[in-house]
Amino acid sequence: MTIEPFPLPDQIHTIVLDFDGVFTDNKVWVDQDGRESVRCDRADGLAFDMLRHAQAQGALSVDVFILSKEPNPVVLSRAKKLQLACQHGIRDKRAFLSDHFTRLRPDDPNPFTGLLYVGNDLNDAPVMRKAGWAAAPADAHPAVRAIANIHLTAAGGHGCVRELVERLLRINEMTEWELDELISNC
Ligand SMILES: [Mg+2]
Repeated sequence: MTIEPFPLPDQIHTIVLDFDGVFTDNKVWVDQDGRESVRCDRADGLAFDMLRHAQAQGALSVDVFILSKEPNPVVLSRAKKLQLACQHGIRDKRAFLSDHFTRLRPDDPNPFTGLLYVGNDLNDAPVMRKAGWAAAPADAHPAVRAIANIHLTAAGGHGCVRELVERLLRINEMTEWELDELISNC
C-alpha cells in the first residue's frame, strides 16, 4: 500500500471545509414547520481546540473557515459553537475563493497551492481540482474521492474532520507528554 502525501504545516495557509457531508452525515431532519436540524460529531469540536492551541504555540499558521452552499442557519450555529468563521449560501465556491485570495493574498501568484479543502460532493469538485490539497471523507461521492489527494478513512459526520486535523498535527508522532500538554490546553 502506498502512503499518500500529506501537507506539512508550512505548506498550507488556508483550510476550508464544506459543511454538509463533512461535519454531518449528509442527512437532515425536517419538522412539520420546515425547521431543519443535523447531527454532528463532537470529536470534530476538539479538533479545532487542538488546532487553535497548536496555532498559539506557533506550530502552524492557517486561516480556517467553513464554506457552504446551504443557506440554512444551522451551519452558522455549528460554526459559532466551534468558534469557526463561516461563509454560507455560497453557490460558486471556486469563484468565492478566487475573490477571497485576491483580497487577502494579492502578492501570491498561486494561492490555491496552499489551500487544503475538504469536500464531499460534486459542487466541491471545481475547488478540489484547483486546490493544492483536497481531502474527501470516506463516504464522499466517488468522483470527489477520485479528485482528492487526501483520502480520509472516517466518513462525514463521523470524525473525518478530527482525523484530518490529527494527521496535520502529527498526533501519532507526539510523545505522551506532548499529547497531554496539547489536550490539557483544549
Ligand atoms: Mg457537502
